[in-house]
This record gives sequence, structure tokens and C-alpha cells, in this order.
Amino acid sequence: MKKINFYSGPAILPEEVLQQAKEAITDFAGTGLSILEVSHRSKEFVKVMEDARAMVKEIMALKDDREVLFLQGGGSSQFYMVPMNLLNENETAEYFDTGQWAHGAMEEAKNFGYVHVACSSEKTKYDHIPTEYSVSDSSKYLHLTSNNTVFGTQFHWWPEVKCPTVVDMSSDVFSRQMDFNRFDLIYAGAQKNMGAAGTTVVVVNKNILGTVNRKIPKMLDYRAHIKGESMINTPSAFAVYVSYLTLQWVKKQGLQAIEERNVRKANKLYAAIDCSTLFKGTVAHADRSLMNVCFNIPSGNLPGQDGANINSTEEKFIAFAAKFGIVGIKGYRTVGGFRASIYNAMPESGVDVLIEAMKEFERTQA
Ligand SMILES: *Cc1c(COP(=O)(O)O)cnc(C)c1O
Repeated sequence: MKKINFYSGPAILPEEVLQQAKEAITDFAGTGLSILEVSHRSKEFVKVMEDARAMVKEIMALKDDREVLFLQGGGSSQFYMVPMNLLNENETAEYFDTGQWAHGAMEEAKNFGYVHVACSSEKTKYDHIPTEYSVSDSSKYLHLTSNNTVFGTQFHWWPEVKCPTVVDMSSDVFSRQMDFNRFDLIYAGAQKNMGAAGTTVVVVNKNILGTVNRKIPKMLDYRAHIKGESMINTPSAFAVYVSYLTLQWVKKQGLQAIEERNVRKANKLYAAIDCSTLFKGTVAHADRSLMNVCFNIPSGNLPGQDGANINSTEEKFIAFAAKFGIVGIKGYRTVGGFRASIYNAMPESGVDVLIEAMKEFERTQA
């Protein structure tokens, strides 16, 4: 039986994308070769790369000075590529410390220059996004994580700052409409909301590049990748292909329709949590994520359990939900409880099944 996949990443992909990817494994674009064995210099693959980059530009309605790249090394490699390319040793970058990945990005930047923590919600276990922050006009850039995958918070507003803004959109890229041109650098590992693991999309305003005086290895230099059109070495061809297929799926529907569906899905799941006497949401309402819905069963805690680990009632619900075909709802290992990741490809019917399982569990098991 096909499972209902709530894993946080690698994550659910649209059924038609999986079908098309499957076909390309035997015969890619009528070449008589598999996508896994075709040359990345073949005209068929070069077209995939060009079209994927062009679709990102189109879907995000990007200005001409924005360049789109498909790189390797995951979202995590952008944690150091960003400061390596943007921050001199005597300069300061601003970081919003709003979650595990945001914190990781901040720590890496310290290897390259000064880091100023503009705000932090670490003390309350990242249960909200601070609205009070301090960002200096003269800082080199501000780094944000638009959706905090581990804790389930998401920006629904943007800080107004004078310096360029860099955003890690790994877990909510292409999930909603926004003015993408207000950001100077956007990056997203593909495996959450746009494809298979192995490639990372980077959108960069080329005007912010070329201001650091350190030597940058070619493979880590955005300018080299722009010049080489994301092909200075062998790209992760299959991963790029899956992103290309997903981008076609996104483009066909448009971000407006995708956002509306995502809002409907999240609203009904949060409503089910809020009217339950058993399940409880774990983050501030105003910052609730449309992508990663975090909740728990606080009353399931045994005396002495601090909630950091999963409790026995929660374990019981995971086993119960499995009978409905539900997989991947266990919270991040340091957080506990549940996390239901409801990315773009999760159909509304999948969320309905989860809600049904929750209601049924509460009625019969708790
Ligand atoms: C998963 C994730 C990352 C890390 O991605 P990798 O591709 O595994 O390196 C970074 N940032 C955010 C917001 C994430 O969700």
C-alpha cells in the first residue's frame, strides 16, 4: 500500500513527477539512454538545466539581475558559501537565530567574519519568531530562515532592513506567493519542497557579488557557477531532472493555487489540533508554519519526562496512525512529539486522513 508520507525531507513528491522520473530512468527524452547514463553535455540534458533555471526565474518573477543556479552540497553548504562569497573578515553579518538550521548557518558564518545575532528565540526552544530585532544599516547582509523545519515556525512578515537579505527557503520554497526580488540571495535544498536530494537551487542578485578580498575556490564561487551556467562540472543530473519536473508541476498550477491549497491544508490540521483536548500545538499561533505542523500530547508525559523525548502515548499514536498508512510524523529527535510535514505535494486528502486518525485515537485510545 502506498503510504501517506509526512516525512520532513527527503519528502513527498507529486505522483506525476515520480511517474515521469521513472520513465526517464529507462528512456530519457527519447535518447534511448537513461537519465542516469546520459551525458550532461548532451543537448537534451543541457535543455533540462536551461529550462529548470528559466522556470525558477519565471515562477518567482525575478528581475534580470537575478541569476539561478543548481549547485551541490545541500542547503548546509550554503551556510558557508554565503559568508565566503559575501563577508570580509572585518565585516559583520546579521543573523536571526530562529531554529536549528538558522543557528547552524550562523555558526558557519563565524569562520569568515563577524556575526551579530539580530534576535534569538533559543531560550524558549525556538517556539516563535521574535518581532523585536536589531539590524545595523551598515551590516553586510541579514540572514533569515523563512521556515524553521525542525520547530514548525515560519515568517509571515519580513524585517525591513537596509542591507541585502539572504534567505534559506529550504523547506518552503515555491509554497506561497511573495515578492522574491526583495531578497538578494535565496537558497533551498531540493529534497523538501522541490525535488530529490542532491541539488540546491540558489537565486542570487549578481550585484552583491565580487566584494570580498579572499580567494574563493572555483567550485565555491557563485560567479564561476553563473559564468559556467551551473555546468562547470558534472551536475547532479538526476536530482536536477526531478526538480525540473516538479517545477513544471508548480508552473502549471501557479503559486497562487498552490498557496491556497497549502493554507487550506494547514488551517484544517491546526483547527483539529486546537479543538482537541489531547493534542496540543507547540509554537506561537502567529508564527505557525504552513509546511511543518508540530504538536504533541503533553498529558502523555510521565513524571520526570521533560517532553524532549517522545512519550508512551505519543508512541502509541504513531503506531495507531501507521494503520492508516501514515508515516513520518515523529518529531525531530531533539524536539519530540509530532511533526507532520505537509509540503506542496501532500494532497488535501492526506491531511484529512491524519485528522481522522487523530480524532479516532482521541475517541477510542486515549
Ligand atoms: C533541511 C534543511 C537544511 C539542510 O539541508 P541539507 O540539504 O540536508 O544540507 C537547511 N536549512 C533548512 C531550513 C532545512 O530545512
